[in-house]
Amino acid sequence: MRIFHTVSGLREVLKACRLKGLRIGFVPTMGNLHEGHLALVEQARSSCDIVVCSIFVNALQFGLNEDWDKYPRTYQVDCDKLRDSGCDYLFHPEDTEMYPNGLDTQSRVICPSMTDVLCGASRPGHFEGVTTVVTKLFNIVQPDEAIFGIKDYQQLAVIRRMVEDLCMPMQITAAPIHREADGLAMSSRNTYITADERPNVVVLKESLEWIAEQIKTGARNFTELETMAIQRIADAGFKTDYITVSNSKTLDPAAEDDLEITILGAIFTRAARLIDNLSINLD
Ligand code: AMP
Repeated sequence: MRIFHTVSGLREVLKACRLKGLRIGFVPTMGNLHEGHLALVEQARSSCDIVVCSIFVNALQFGLNEDWDKYPRTYQVDCDKLRDSGCDYLFHPEDTEMYPNGLDTQSRVICPSMTDVLCGASRPGHFEGVTTVVTKLFNIVQPDEAIFGIKDYQQLAVIRRMVEDLCMPMQITAAPIHREADGLAMSSRNTYITADERPNVVVLKESLEWIAEQIKTGARNFTELETMAIQRIADAGFKTDYITVSNSKTLDPAAEDDLEITILGAIFTRAARLIDNLSINLD
């Protein structure tokens, strides 16, 4: 695996790959890699000739009071994992390489659709930071295919929409959610969960599953289901950010006759905010 810290260095090798007609797959991450991330790399490996992974903790997508400064950075361990997973090129830029003119005057990419609800409602500006950095990374790597996790369902939907709206010439592939043995969705932020909270955080996934079961057996009062799930989460000791039954495509609140439904949730532990989602097809 070759490691690049500069845009120009990575571009040079990728230009040569492109000239040879090699298919380039890309997996953007913020590091602190777990099996979920590595599964994206393996997915890219299976459909592409060259796999590029990036590790960049993007300040632009963090709010002022969020965890940018304490986000877990485990670069050396991440490198070993990527090497073993078949990553060819790792891009690990400094902040000044990605934002040489600073953050305040950085040109932005704005996706007006689906970005001010759910995670966007509690993290204003977050998705603007995501779409901006992902566009920059796409421009640097110019992949044929980029792989994103369904774990971040809203992010995936926004990126798909951005790629469509802006005619970005690449395929976006969705990868399934990787979970711990008890069902907790893997996340770099799971390191913030304390030992006493850990057995109970699975309540998020269980609440989404409970709502899905109710809907499959005919329940259509989604607001009531959301309220009951929030109570269940409170009983387990956690505050809910949102639990929402949404239309899978638009992320609008689901209508009673919607057939493709995604149930999304976010809860707060003492030091973390955890998200999860579950899609059902009623066809
Ligand atoms: P992050 O490093 O958290 O920005 O995530 C980088 C990529 O990994 C994103 O496309 C995420 O959706 C994906 N990802 C994170 N956690 C998981 C997981 N548990 N299963 C599958 N993909 C994941």
